[in-house]
Amino acid sequence: AHLDRISEVDAKVHAFLHVDTDGALAAAKAVDDRRAKGDELGPLAGVPLALKDVFTTEGVPTTVGSKILEGWLPPYDATVTRRLKDAGVVILGKTNMDEFAMGSSTENSAYGPTGNPWDLTRIPGGSGGGSAAALAAFEAPLAIGTDTGGSIRQPAAVTGTVGVKPTYGGVSRYGLVAFSSSLDQGGPCARTVLDAALLHAAIAGHDPKDSTSIDAPVPDVVGAARSGDVRGMRIGVVKEFGGEGYQAGVTQRFTEAVELLRELGAEVVEISCPHFQYALPAYYLIAPSEASSNLARFDAMRYGLRVGDNGDRSAEEVMSLTREAGFGPEVKRRIMLGTYALSSGYYDAYYGQAQKVRTLISRDFDAAFAQVDVLVSPTTPTTAFPIGERADDPMAMYLADLCTIPSNLAGNAAMSLPCGLAPEDGLPVGLQIIAPTMADDRLYKVGAAVE
Ligand code: GLN
Repeated sequence: AHLDRISEVDAKVHAFLHVDTDGALAAAKAVDDRRAKGDELGPLAGVPLALKDVFTTEGVPTTVGSKILEGWLPPYDATVTRRLKDAGVVILGKTNMDEFAMGSSTENSAYGPTGNPWDLTRIPGGSGGGSAAALAAFEAPLAIGTDTGGSIRQPAAVTGTVGVKPTYGGVSRYGLVAFSSSLDQGGPCARTVLDAALLHAAIAGHDPKDSTSIDAPVPDVVGAARSGDVRGMRIGVVKEFGGEGYQAGVTQRFTEAVELLRELGAEVVEISCPHFQYALPAYYLIAPSEASSNLARFDAMRYGLRVGDNGDRSAEEVMSLTREAGFGPEVKRRIMLGTYALSSGYYDAYYGQAQKVRTLISRDFDAAFAQVDVLVSPTTPTTAFPIGERADDPMAMYLADLCTIPSNLAGNAAMSLPCGLAPEDGLPVGLQIIAPTMADDRLYKVGAAVE
């Protein structure tokens, strides 16, 4: 049924870069066979899922939205892919994304943009716009995204779906094509909080193949999603995330969600996090710096594309021609920014300074979580904007992640879930919930209450 739905609508939505019809049917049949044999099956066995094209899938194209990986067939599965397969999840295909997960609209994909199913002339968010659109268009009930600065939460917010960035280290990065290794985190996307929790439980947990993976029990996210009891919880409204620059309907729906939490028995207080105003500039030094190093591996020798190898050119010339043709403008911008920020003589002034700001932001969170159990804010300042509106204005595009980036810098857990439609345009508004490191269960408890 989901493959039929994809054939019906995806020519318009363009959520998928690759639909793996044969693989999906084979996986579904394998689950049926196991069921017939009387095998015990997990809660997600046979459930279809859309996988962001940033996770390697053995023998199935993995492009990261880039021409530089066109034609590459990974020889191995990412840990997330492997765990999904082991859980009997049916992977329908790979979803569209901004190239190398750099963007907030999916317009930076080398394979063309994705439409927002609420209004196809608007962006579905990014970088994981394909995964979010697949959910909103009912092409899949579950999806996987990655969140380096907001790429799970902001698409969830603008498509009226649920997206969770788990605690950094909570979900393995093995086989996740790296953008910014100290920030990248895979996580669940779904249409309900409980569905997201079930998917979270299936992919999370220690992985010896990822040295930053946390070796501790996964918080009871499913139990929390089933409870939704917020009585006595202390909830902090981040003072810095609101007011000027926030769309009126976003502020209105956010305020109503906070009021609802109060009515349900939570205690709501305002919390100031004074260094959050520096999160965006710090992120745009740290993320490009790490990207400039991570993307050095695309050298025309190891993967995918190779341009101009006519037998006469040097390896350097072929590398240069390949990177020129294979990377899009935003990726090149980040590589140049990052290389500059890391160059000797500038390192202390830019990268070093950004790392200090990162510490200050973590301390703001520590101080906040000494007073409250979770923090809340709008996920993003506006609803889905029209395709093309911010395409030539990187600064306007970067503002979409104003509220999401601090959690990546600090490594804690955060969720976006729908909290109504903005009255002025009828488009979905997202509520962001932020919890301390390894307290991911709190997101689900509060999320279930609001939902
Ligand atoms: N929009 C941010 C960026 O362009 C975050 C992207 C992400 O989380 N992958 O870097």
